[in-house]
Amino acid sequence: MDDRQFRSAMGKFATGVTVITTEVEGEIHGMTANAFMSVSLDPKLVVISIGEKAKILNKIKESKIFTVNILAADQEELSMIFAGQLKEHKEVTFERLDGKPVLSGAVAQVACEVSAEHVEGDHTLFIGKVTDIHLEDAEPLVFYNGKYRSLVELKPVTI
Ligand code: FAD
Repeated sequence: MDDRQFRSAMGKFATGVTVITTEVEGEIHGMTANAFMSVSLDPKLVVISIGEKAKILNKIKESKIFTVNILAADQEELSMIFAGQLKEHKEVTFERLDGKPVLSGAVAQVACEVSAEHVEGDHTLFIGKVTDIHLEDAEPLVFYNGKYRSLVELKPVTI
């Protein structure tokens, strides 16, 4: 099995798109990520997976905090900015949730404190204890097979 086949298979799992943010000495850093899921309801825990080459890795290790911003359908440009896919630098303004940097307009903002980290292969899994949440009534951005998409509601099945 080669890397491309593995990537293609994982790309068949449709996900939302998030921007993970953290802050070290007043400097905010963001990174686009879709490796995010809920882990536990009691206590409320989530997990993110960060590649060993990502600059945000050491920043989260240092700050011990992060936020997960689940992007709305009209926030594709933010996803591209924080994935390093835009050539020109764009200024982004952040709001605060529980004192942590978040993106306005996100479908959900989830503020976390790192409760554990596990190195697995070339990624580090951060378990985040959720300290606050803010929700917006908007449609999410979707990522599937390497492309951005939007949700389509299926008609209910009639039997
Ligand atoms: P950089 O590449 O330096 O930063 C990313 C970009 O964000 C840069 O262009 C930078 O200018 C910009 N930026 C950062 N902070 C700010 C700020 N405060 N204001 C304005 N711009 C800022 N990688 C993973 O490790 N895990 C994943 O789950 C994951 N999922 C992904 C899902 C999708 C849909 C995509 C497109 C990419 C995903 N990636 C994931 C890859 C990851 O987003 C890129 O490799 C990213 O460039 C790595 O970021 P970095 O921390 O190394 O920092």
